[in-house]
Amino acid sequence: MNQPQSWEARAEEYSLYGFTDMPTIHRRGTVVVTHGEGPYVVDVHGKRYLDANSGLWNMVAGFDHRGLIDAAKAQYERFPGYHAFFGRMSDQTVMLSEKLVEVSPFDSGKVFYTNSGSEANDTMVKMLWFLHRAEGKPQRRKILTRWNAYHGVTAVSASMTGKPYNEVFGLPLPGFIHLTCPHYWRYGEVGESEEQFVARLARELEEVIQREGADTIAGFFAEPVMGAGGVIPPAKGYFQAIQPILKKHGIPLVSDEVICGFGRTGNTWGCQTYGFTPDAIISSKNLTAGFFPMGAVILGPDLAGRVQAAVEAIEEFPHGFTASGHPVGCAVALKAIDVVMNEGLAENVIRLAPRLEENLRRLAQKPNIGEYRGVGFMWALEAVRDKATKTPFEATLSVSERIANTCTDLGLICRPLGQSVVLCPPFILTDGQMDEMFQKLEQALDEVFAEVA
Ligand SMILES: *Cc1c(COP(=O)(O)O)cnc(C)c1O
Repeated sequence: MNQPQSWEARAEEYSLYGFTDMPTIHRRGTVVVTHGEGPYVVDVHGKRYLDANSGLWNMVAGFDHRGLIDAAKAQYERFPGYHAFFGRMSDQTVMLSEKLVEVSPFDSGKVFYTNSGSEANDTMVKMLWFLHRAEGKPQRRKILTRWNAYHGVTAVSASMTGKPYNEVFGLPLPGFIHLTCPHYWRYGEVGESEEQFVARLARELEEVIQREGADTIAGFFAEPVMGAGGVIPPAKGYFQAIQPILKKHGIPLVSDEVICGFGRTGNTWGCQTYGFTPDAIISSKNLTAGFFPMGAVILGPDLAGRVQAAVEAIEEFPHGFTASGHPVGCAVALKAIDVVMNEGLAENVIRLAPRLEENLRRLAQKPNIGEYRGVGFMWALEAVRDKATKTPFEATLSVSERIANTCTDLGLICRPLGQSVVLCPPFILTDGQMDEMFQKLEQALDEVFAEVA
């Protein structure tokens, strides 16, 4: 299919792909995209795709937002790059930190910048290790997360991620402990109520803390809604059940809001949607609406005070990336926060979320959809061979990949994740675009289920 000089062939010849199924690429070729229009992207052949995944969850304002482009351009004109080392930082960095604390659920706090979500989680782990040592508890190093969590790909954040694919790297590193995923539909036992399920998970946490020793545990990280693990909202009451246990044992709770932050769940933060206040927040992706690579650690008042005191004691925090707090990134983030919160994007999520759910509820009537789940503008449909027993399709059938590939042919991008298909559209989606999304998705579901059922 690929001509030797085609974009597809050139891509395959010289690029090493990440998180990409190579047999599919060899069979179908690469979608090489050139630009976007609103929530659509356009490939080298001029074909348009409605990107129901907002790029990688992050392009919430679409692919050609004028205000964001102008903000980036203006900052490039004014001051195109600087660092935040040695007592210098850009004015944009100062303003973004103020803004992030202002919009955070915290009364006060401090912000540290990275280039990605992985680095922000990695940075948070280093901060906790640093803090506990400084406070005379150097053995507090273990990190608790959950199976199916996604926290990134650096050696530390991949160790926090609870996915079997990291075995190929010999990860996780020692000291990274994964607890049960709070997905009631999949992991609840027969006859177990949602309440009992949550109580079991709380007991498990208590047992793990007893077994390992509270004074060996540095922190607990959780996404409010698990994103790349398959869009998994927590079982009802989950955070209310676990937070008191963590508090009792002095274990900080870090909310990884890389996907949930800035409106995805229908509130500014996912922790607000699920009614808990963490000790720190990790932000990235939506932070710049995908227009600049940037991550941030936002410490709440307790951790901010303690980390600052630990830094004062040794006079310096020896950590930072060359581009931490990049002035263009900060200017773009300031604009992105304004666009999402004040230009109707957050409201559009709240307005359209019920219609999105209604459409999914309708599609979930199909005999081969086991569950639809999600909140706000992040949802998944899970395909099953047998609805009553929740038996999945045979893995060799690659059902979710087939659905996603059929969607791609129809001009709709959605992501296969395990046996699920993920929908997380840009916040600018219109009613008409939502109709287009569901019309194409339903056509793909019907075609694929007819083949495999
Ligand atoms: C994407 C993601 C990360 C990693 O961010 P990168 O910028 O890809 O390093 C971390 N946590 C969550 C919840 C994510 O979705």
